[in-house]
Amino acid sequence: MNLLYNSTRNAEKKVTASEAILKGLADDGGLFVPEYIPKLDVTMEELKSMSYQETAYAVMKQFLTDFTEEELKHCINSAYDSKFDTEVIAPLVKVEDTYHLELFHGATIAFKDMALSILPHLLTTAAKKNDVTKEIVILTATSGDTGKAALAGFADVPGTKIIVFYPKGGVSRIQELQMVTQKGENTSVVAIHGNFDNAQSGVKEMFEDKELEKELAAAGYQFSSANSINIGRLVPQVVYYVYAYAKLLENEEITEGEELNVTVPTGNFGNILAAYYAKQMGVPIGKLICASNENKVLFDFFQTGVYDRNREFILTSSPSMDILISSNLERLIYTIAGQDAEKDAQLMAQLKDRGVYEITPEMREKLADFAGGYATEEECRDAIRTTYEKTGYVMDTHTAVAAAVCKKYRSDSGDARKCLVASTASPYKFIHSVMSAIDEKYAAADEFSLIDELSRISGTEVPRAIEEIRNAEIRHCLECDADCMKETVKEILRV
Ligand SMILES: *Cc1c(COP(=O)(O)O)cnc(C)c1O
Repeated sequence: MNLLYNSTRNAEKKVTASEAILKGLADDGGLFVPEYIPKLDVTMEELKSMSYQETAYAVMKQFLTDFTEEELKHCINSAYDSKFDTEVIAPLVKVEDTYHLELFHGATIAFKDMALSILPHLLTTAAKKNDVTKEIVILTATSGDTGKAALAGFADVPGTKIIVFYPKGGVSRIQELQMVTQKGENTSVVAIHGNFDNAQSGVKEMFEDKELEKELAAAGYQFSSANSINIGRLVPQVVYYVYAYAKLLENEEITEGEELNVTVPTGNFGNILAAYYAKQMGVPIGKLICASNENKVLFDFFQTGVYDRNREFILTSSPSMDILISSNLERLIYTIAGQDAEKDAQLMAQLKDRGVYEITPEMREKLADFAGGYATEEECRDAIRTTYEKTGYVMDTHTAVAAAVCKKYRSDSGDARKCLVASTASPYKFIHSVMSAIDEKYAAADEFSLIDELSRISGTEVPRAIEEIRNAEIRHCLECDADCMKETVKEILRV
């Protein structure tokens, strides 16, 4: 029997997994959620000896039930191949008393590759299955990493076009260079004058714009999303939590059934939600520790039950977490409301109209799996420096936020369970912030000289993704105001 999906704002209308992937966002503006979270149907003992690809199949087949074995295996094997610089795909590194799950070994050296290297395959397979004849236009808002990973995944994929919006001045220089040098006839990159939330809201509005949908259809196009609101991004992210647990077991770092805490540097709430799904599938995960930077809207939410985006948007050294509207939280809200779509829709309307909502005491009780924490810019820098000085290991700024929060949580709570930190980006990607955290003498140096210096002091190789942009030609220079995104899309598509 197929596992079906419904919108968080309407539980009546059900679609298959492939339909949910194609649409990205539900017509009512809600996010697609599975009717229930399936349980793993393989044992930990079996998972221990599985490769990343085998684990991916074991997990994803439970969610994407209308894909055939052949289709799904083809998607998995096309995604997790030599684009990754290690056969294990997601290596575990023990740093002091914490396990770092390195999710940055793909083509664009951020964890977005874990899902975006497979999404184009899932999407084109889904299009075939559903007899879609229109060209699919991927619209994506990015805080820096999604954009490049989506561009790399969709570049020159037949039957698709991709348009990426990023906040001008809101991403690192390396992130920007990675995007504006992107090759591929079907790729467009637009810098908007605004922040990530403006970009994300603009994209969401286009999805909900029925008029635009008609105009596009007449021109032979339909929209889909590569943002983590797409269930096709969330499901592949569940895989690495299952994989990490099984590998820790295989390496005898933990014992069977031992609970493992997980700390995730969080922005749009996709990655940590995947960990929550892994827990519900049966992986013995203890606390899910949600780490924020100074944009600590989620920390405050877990503290008080009030989600309030009415605050200053702070630009930090972990730009991929500079977010005040964490889209995927809606999926958790729906769950803790007891799958009450009406309640969810009501809270999301309040968020849209007033920028704030409060959950009920009953809903708060269901958040016991989570703990919130945040790290200031200074704590983030300290974490990078002290870890480097003690161990020689260099973390990126996002991972450092999580590492700092993990440490604070441990000492504040007395919870002695072992902890996994999701390591979401290569330090090369945020080179300037990382190197100046290690030593202020680097603050004035240029990016590419620092890259060679990082390679020297850490004894790691400069990733391919960085070498590629050293001398690459700039191919994209479009800019627009945040309220002109729709016009820009129409110009690009010539409709
Ligand atoms: C996207 C991103 C995050 C935040 O992940 P979410 O799934 O949006 O919570 C954290 N770190 C890095 C490096 C990222 O690219």
